[in-house]
Amino acid sequence: MDGDRLTKIAVMAFSGGMDSTSLLLRLLRESNKVYTIGFNYGQKHLIELDRAQKNIEYLQTCGFIVEHKTVDLSSIMSMFTGSLTSGEKIPEGHYEQEQMKSTVVPNRNAIFASIIYGYALSKSIEYSSEVSISLGVHSGDHAIYPDCRPEFYQVLNHAFAIGNWDSEKISLDLPYIDGDKISILQDSLISCEQLSLDFDTIFANTNTSYEPDEMGRSSGKTGSDIERILAFHAIGREDPVEYQDTWADTLAHALKIEAEYRDKIYREKLTDLQYQVTRNSATERAFTGIYDKHFESGTYYCICCNHPLFESTGKYNSGCGWPAFHTEHNSAKISRIEDYAYGMNRIEVRCSKCDAHLGHVFNDGPREHGGERYCINSASIEFRE
Ligand SMILES: [Zn+2]
Repeated sequence: MDGDRLTKIAVMAFSGGMDSTSLLLRLLRESNKVYTIGFNYGQKHLIELDRAQKNIEYLQTCGFIVEHKTVDLSSIMSMFTGSLTSGEKIPEGHYEQEQMKSTVVPNRNAIFASIIYGYALSKSIEYSSEVSISLGVHSGDHAIYPDCRPEFYQVLNHAFAIGNWDSEKISLDLPYIDGDKISILQDSLISCEQLSLDFDTIFANTNTSYEPDEMGRSSGKTGSDIERILAFHAIGREDPVEYQDTWADTLAHALKIEAEYRDKIYREKLTDLQYQVTRNSATERAFTGIYDKHFESGTYYCICCNHPLFESTGKYNSGCGWPAFHTEHNSAKISRIEDYAYGMNRIEVRCSKCDAHLGHVFNDGPREHGGERYCINSASIEFRE
């Protein structure tokens, strides 16, 4: 698919996982000539390199030529600690939990970046051209992997620039740095559409599991599996990669792990009243909430997930004993559910992002603002100016 002239050259690490696969598609979409490197560092999930090769071949059948090389670092990196390469068991559970730190391979990304930088400089000299180094790191990685943080790459890039001739021709491209697994998948949907590629074929040819079985099927149980499964669920698609269990069971397990993790976070972060109101649909006693008679200018956010729910301009004094709003925040998209509890027929309102119970909505609000009254628990919201 090379055009008449080579406009842009990009070099990237292609692990065969979701992020680097999405990044490769994005670079092709942006008409780059792409050079990829896969690293064998003795990882237990070596299958990811085979999957990367499969996608390179699939892309080739569709007319996209990607020059892909696999670099063998297994002899040196097998000396490193970490459950991805050693005999240590890979932890199961949620990606953001402390035990996932055992999956960190010491200095891995600095080693990869060093090799990629050398390769990029070589391509720059070969073509007398500028070359960009693209990395698929994203915000979801930052918590447990310090070597996925943007400040690390900026400093590393600066060091490489100082230590090399002609480094002004090399630039660093981190298109997913503010994104997450969901936005990365959405980006791939766009790429596949624009490049006329089959999204399911592409993602069946990836591996995210740290613990695939001997047949290459993902376990669905490690933190990286859970994160991936939830991302596919969030974009409303079945993950085309093969799991050891059915998709329904795999998804149910991931949702259970996510719910348990969220619940743990809520219990740590919220007061007992806030927890009972938002997670167990309790109601605070009338005239006791801190925002009942609160009329400062600002925004009210969900106490659980920080999603904007109301603005002070939509608040009024209803006299009912709970904060009352006639209008929700224009990006709140508050969920409404029929509630038949206590022999009444009411409309319950919940946070659309985290499903926190907020209160109810009634039809006795001010007519000039549409006639609705959101009767909200102070315990479910947080005000900021
Ligand atoms: Zn929320």
